[in-house]
Amino acid sequence: MDKTRTLGSVFRHGLCGLWLLSFIGSSGCDTPRGVEYLGKRLPVVDMHLHPGEWEGIPDDTKKVIGSRFPFPFGLTAKQTAGGILSAEGILAEMDKGGVTQSVLYAVYAPRTVGITTNEWVLADTQKAPERLFGLASLRVDMFQIDRDAELARLRSALSHPSMIGIKLAHAHQHFRMDDPLYFGIYQLAAELKKPVYLHTGSSPFPGTSSEPPYTDPTYLEEAIKRYPGASFILGHLGYDFIDKKLGALDACIRLAKAYPNVYLEPSALGSRGSDPTGENLRQAMARMREAGLVDRIIYGSDGPQSPGFVRDYLYRTVSALLATGYTVDEAQAVLAGNFARVFNVPALK
Ligand SMILES: [Zn+2]
Repeated sequence: MDKTRTLGSVFRHGLCGLWLLSFIGSSGCDTPRGVEYLGKRLPVVDMHLHPGEWEGIPDDTKKVIGSRFPFPFGLTAKQTAGGILSAEGILAEMDKGGVTQSVLYAVYAPRTVGITTNEWVLADTQKAPERLFGLASLRVDMFQIDRDAELARLRSALSHPSMIGIKLAHAHQHFRMDDPLYFGIYQLAAELKKPVYLHTGSSPFPGTSSEPPYTDPTYLEEAIKRYPGASFILGHLGYDFIDKKLGALDACIRLAKAYPNVYLEPSALGSRGSDPTGENLRQAMARMREAGLVDRIIYGSDGPQSPGFVRDYLYRTVSALLATGYTVDEAQAVLAGNFARVFNVPALK
């Protein structure tokens, strides 16, 4: 039996318990935002969502994304993706799941997952500026030549208060985590006090760099050490998405214990596709708590991906928190409190 289901009575998922219908259609009922956890309603920030244009995604990656949509959405991937990738679509997915605030990512990875510009993200955040924030990014494929211009563009994107941090994905953007050529990005992060989110672990998308210097967070250690004023958020906990294993979780935990400027983000690894039983996400949550790192965990889903995913991922995460003994205060820290502190963003109720 799916252990998470038995928790349904403790955890009401924002939307009148319509869990089984989560993949089809909207909720049809008005409940307050947030999730109920052991009798207390907690706000939820999802620090990892991807807006954008279907047309900006390379063809091979479109196929991977389309195949994830539950039937019958996969048949009309373009329309489905176009709908849920818009600011309005994302707000609707957040409301379905009870998510209070979210962070949208700019991406410049033309050879793998495509491009979502800083301007696009900023425009989306302005549709609901109290609820939507953005992480800016930059191109690194010509960095030998245009580093200063790219860093200037990043600085300018970060000058808007809605753009609260930087998003990088070494594996998708094909640059080594330990290459000092790119350390100016962390220097800027420290100077502007804007945290850096980094994809760690392998990636299911075609064309990705899969060698350890692009995926193993151990290779970030030099940068983490050299820029103590920059916050490094290790995305996906170094998960191995190819073999569906906890990959570099130990390395993430070691870095977070050794350096106070390291944070941990458990998105995507616990999805139905990547962790069907939910056991890996439960183990990750348990091990981070045992290591005394609850105040470093920042919740994210890596949605919207497909209709209902944002809600589904939150449900699976809250189930894992309950199953591994997180108290109300600890769950509050993971779901919203740590985010508000690290990004210095006012929490919404
Ligand atoms: Zn992502």
